[in-house]
Amino acid sequence: MKERVLITGAAGFIGSHLCDRFLNEGYHVIGMDNLLTGSLSNIEHLFPREDFEFYHHDVTKFVHVPGEIKYILHFASPASPIDYLQMPIQTLKVGALGTHNLLGLAKAKGARILVASTSEVYGDPLVHPQVEEYWGNVNPVGPRGVYDEAKRFLEAITMAYHTYHKVETRIVRIFNTYGPRMRVNDGRVLPAFFSQAIRGEGLTVFGDGSQTRSFCYVDDLVDGIYRLLLSDYDQPVNMGNPQEITVLEFASEILKLVNNPEAHIVFKELPVDDPKQRKPDITKARTILGWEPKVNREEGLARTYEYFKQVVKTDKEEVTA
Ligand code: UDP
Repeated sequence: MKERVLITGAAGFIGSHLCDRFLNEGYHVIGMDNLLTGSLSNIEHLFPREDFEFYHHDVTKFVHVPGEIKYILHFASPASPIDYLQMPIQTLKVGALGTHNLLGLAKAKGARILVASTSEVYGDPLVHPQVEEYWGNVNPVGPRGVYDEAKRFLEAITMAYHTYHKVETRIVRIFNTYGPRMRVNDGRVLPAFFSQAIRGEGLTVFGDGSQTRSFCYVDDLVDGIYRLLLSDYDQPVNMGNPQEITVLEFASEILKLVNNPEAHIVFKELPVDDPKQRKPDITKARTILGWEPKVNREEGLARTYEYFKQVVKTDKEEVTA
């Protein structure tokens, strides 16, 4: 009998890559998603496999899964700034009520649970690079507050289940991650820039583009999550690629890669509370898990471009379609 793993947010960007990884590792995977921001196209290739099953379910409602479960990975949540601006209540509910339900399930099944937290728990950070001991600089009532505070609550309730109920818990703080299966219109910087460059439009750089981010390729992240789950470390761990870049430089890299003469850069207003800088300190992941990212940005962007070439529709294609 294969060990069974429950993955919430299975039809999402990171969740679907986790499903692939756990199936390849020989587990039976139960994917769960309410398809609010996830897409079945991300997991369509898994349906023929007999070690994969899918529950179309909203984890903010009571979660019932028959049979044994060895591991739970809670990755359900709107995760891009425009998504959580459009779905503020759902974002708060899945981080709070959803996490509570899954911790309850972990307790009932005797399962180990890994929950997806975020670099957003650091808010607009005053410590750089961000270490896990930094408590953050979050505006609870700003536009990002619904996500940041939901994830801070997720961490708090997870630690409470760990200390009070002795549930085996793991917390990963995920920094900007990219790769195939990101939603074209999720508003995040990479899908926005790739689709604009491919269509020959203006790449919308917010503010003057001097804000920084550090981008991690999804395969690296998934490998780190796998290691963290199997480790015995129960405190939060940062995961991301410490290679930092300004948003303006990032736009130039994508322009160069796509090489569409009609594409160019346009500047737009900086969103409220947009963090000015972000870069993970990954000393803990390096020393405790022996993990560090292997895919550099050049290679990761090239792989991701192959995906966006297939999914971004240009005007020309739309006319002839
Ligand atoms: N950004 C941008 N143009 C876009 C989308 C995003 O300049 O079309 C900027 C955004 O202001 C932020 C950075 O890119 O500084 C990363 O934004 P994203 O939405 O990907 O995620 P965040 O890291 O802010 O959560």
